[in-house]
Amino acid sequence: MSKPEHIIVVGGGTAGWMAACLLSQAWGISDKRQDSAPTRVTLIESADIDTIGVGEGSTPYMREFFKRLGITEKEWMPACNATYKCGISFPEWSTKPGHESYFHPFFSQLDLEPAADFFNNCNLRRRGQRVAAHPDEYFVAAELARQQLSPIPRQLFEFEHDYAYHFDAGLLATFLKNFARTRGVKHVIDNVTDVALCSEGNIKHLATGEHGCVTADVFFDCSGFASLLMGKALQEPFIAYSDTLFNDRAVALPTPLDARQPIPSDTVSRAASAGWMWRIPLTTRYGNGYVYSSRYLSAEAAEQELRQQLGAEAEGVEARHLKMRVGRVSQHWKNNCVAAGLSQGFIEPLEATAIGLIQFTVERFIEHFEKGGFTDVHRQSFNDHVNKAFDGTRDYVSLHYRLNSRDDTAYWRDSREQGNTSASLAKLMQSWEQGTDFDAALTAEKAFQIYMRPSWYAIFSGMGHYPEFSDDTLEDTRSAERSRRLCRRTAKKFKPHHANWLMAMGQ
Ligand SMILES: Cc1cc2nc3c(=O)[nH]c(=O)nc-3n(C[C@H](O)[C@H](O)[C@H](O)COP(=O)(O)OP(=O)(O)OC[C@H]3O[C@@H](n4cnc5c(N)ncnc54)[C@H](O)[C@@H]3O)c2cc1C
Repeated sequence: MSKPEHIIVVGGGTAGWMAACLLSQAWGISDKRQDSAPTRVTLIESADIDTIGVGEGSTPYMREFFKRLGITEKEWMPACNATYKCGISFPEWSTKPGHESYFHPFFSQLDLEPAADFFNNCNLRRRGQRVAAHPDEYFVAAELARQQLSPIPRQLFEFEHDYAYHFDAGLLATFLKNFARTRGVKHVIDNVTDVALCSEGNIKHLATGEHGCVTADVFFDCSGFASLLMGKALQEPFIAYSDTLFNDRAVALPTPLDARQPIPSDTVSRAASAGWMWRIPLTTRYGNGYVYSSRYLSAEAAEQELRQQLGAEAEGVEARHLKMRVGRVSQHWKNNCVAAGLSQGFIEPLEATAIGLIQFTVERFIEHFEKGGFTDVHRQSFNDHVNKAFDGTRDYVSLHYRLNSRDDTAYWRDSREQGNTSASLAKLMQSWEQGTDFDAALTAEKAFQIYMRPSWYAIFSGMGHYPEFSDDTLEDTRSAERSRRLCRRTAKKFKPHHANWLMAMGQ
């Protein structure tokens, strides 16, 4: 098994500390079987350059991250003001009657039976039969979110239930920093001022403000949008997604949360005039923000629209304006440098996928390096994996825009009609619209590798992407009603979602 002797991680945001934790977990402990020395991991972060400070939602994949590190929810959740997330609500993306809002649920084995009805009804409905086929009726997670329940059962349950988290990004970075340091990661506070390259293109050393030149055999670029090593020094080309995803700005604004009330267990992603607004509940506050396109809206107008949506709770709270570079580098591992986090690319946060992509990148790097060190074939395979994950995620996120039926602004019309659609996504859309075998299309396009079957059905059906009816025959709602009753009964088995309970978990 190959492993590097010394890794330098540049950047102390979520990406840098996630990478440092995973790398030291994999290689930082001495391996008695092989009698090999542990890999040294050093993280350098600037005291002068802030972290991005947002990134508060996740996907269920994040549970694997904590499991891998052996960190329990009791340890990290109270420390990061974290809450549970059952999925994402999407109000106002569609104007189709009955589909003005839908919920993208995380799934559970409990959903198997109602989901079978759901898939069946979706397929009947898109072929013109009037059956109830809205995802909100068929998934336990949607019911949990509706009732502001946690995804944690009151008693031990034989069924696996998937869920994710919301958390304070700054507190998470601090938690991971403390964890990494106890695992032997060396923490250096300094500015990287220059990157020296060898003639063959490897990074030779980094020049720092106060620690001189430092070197390693692998360099992780976690320097955020600056992309100091991969972008600036190694000049790796950046593939912009701006022809597909128009949003390039955000404005964030936290507001208070009444901790005596139940806490929502979903992210709300509400469509607005030139983008969408997030609302993420933590145990101590809401994270709110507006992701929008600067081609259609000024920063002032975006802030004003966000304040209007939030009302009195936003009074006197300062807003933060952010620029987003949306796209990816063409290779994420080049020579002796790996980019993870915003330095490697970013897909706007509609499905909260960025942290999962960091985890995916670092985990795949560990696997590939163990198999073959710096060999080209493993590097190539790694880059293919990560590129597919980025492009596949972009396709799923872009589908929200292609399927929108709003007509109120040029932004929504252009997003639907002028955004670039990848060939693979176009085939899925065509299959759904033409009523052909959609599962076969998902398999052919390997769409399951990025999002599972229920997610694809949920987005098409949730947005009401069905043929219109010319008559007014009544809808057959029997299976939807049966599923709803089942979901309500099942929801009784889950714990409430209160700040006190969440904060007390660690005691
Ligand atoms: C509006 C918005 C909303 C988001 N929402 C989500 C979400 O809900 N879910 C999700 O998964 N992701 C989300 N993200 C993405 C998420 O915030 C990032 O993926 C995550 O925080 C990782 O950031 P990072 O560590 O790569 O970069 P940063 O946080 O920017 O950290 C960069 C680090 O590099 C250091 N650095 C830079 N230059 C130097 C230098 N010269 N020398 C030394 N150190 C240097 C800085 O000091 C800092 O420590 C969102 C992003 C945006 C913009």
